[in-house]
Amino acid sequence: MAETLSYAQAVTYNRHIVLPQIDLQGQEALLNARVLIIGSGGLGCPAAQLLCSSGVGLLTLVDDDKVAVSNLPRQFLFSRAQVGQFKVYAARDRLHELNPDCQINAINTRLDDDALIQHIREHDLVLDCTDNPASRKQINALCYQQQRPLISGAAIRFEGQLLMVDPVNRSPCYQCISRLFTEQALSCVEAGIFAPVVAAIGTQQAHVGLLWLMGKKVLPAGQLLTYDGLTLTWQQFNVPTDPQCAVCQPETK
Ligand SMILES: [Zn+2]
Repeated sequence: MAETLSYAQAVTYNRHIVLPQIDLQGQEALLNARVLIIGSGGLGCPAAQLLCSSGVGLLTLVDDDKVAVSNLPRQFLFSRAQVGQFKVYAARDRLHELNPDCQINAINTRLDDDALIQHIREHDLVLDCTDNPASRKQINALCYQQQRPLISGAAIRFEGQLLMVDPVNRSPCYQCISRLFTEQALSCVEAGIFAPVVAAIGTQQAHVGLLWLMGKKVLPAGQLLTYDGLTLTWQQFNVPTDPQCAVCQPETK
């Protein structure tokens, strides 16, 4: 049965609830939502913080990395004292302080397909906050197979991008757009990343995700949103479905 907001929770989320576009109904949808966040780095930190503080009922964090000093400029769930700890445990502790009403599951291993499928099935929405194309393609394919909505984010240097994938309505997918770019072989370690850019993309993932959980599709599935941090420009593109896509057009295989 769906949970309803307590009086204390209604006080906490008052500034949301007074918005007619959210109201009690929208806030209760967040309370009953389960979100899987894969990656607890520069995208995952702002995304998890906003989903937690905004009243999502359950978050599962997945990351096998440990906190490093070079993470601290962007990954602001972590403190200098937590360097060397697993990111998911450090993030869980900080998020629990922020909002004890939000249940946090922390998984500190890299999941194989079978384990990832199990977790995808147990959540309403997946945020891809990983930092490499191979993981993004894996998560995209499994979300499509399991018919779970996915918000895929990426950032490098001064550039960021965001894509909403809606398998139930057969939207274009991350695999469809990945052919439009040269394979991004560089990581942020080699190429660099400007902290506010990755924070902006992680924040947008939370923004789009929170509204999606309330039934509001502000970023239509299959639209690619890009951000240029040197001109402060957001652009939105229609992604064409790749008719040969092995993920979202399986009947053509
Ligand atoms: Zn596709």
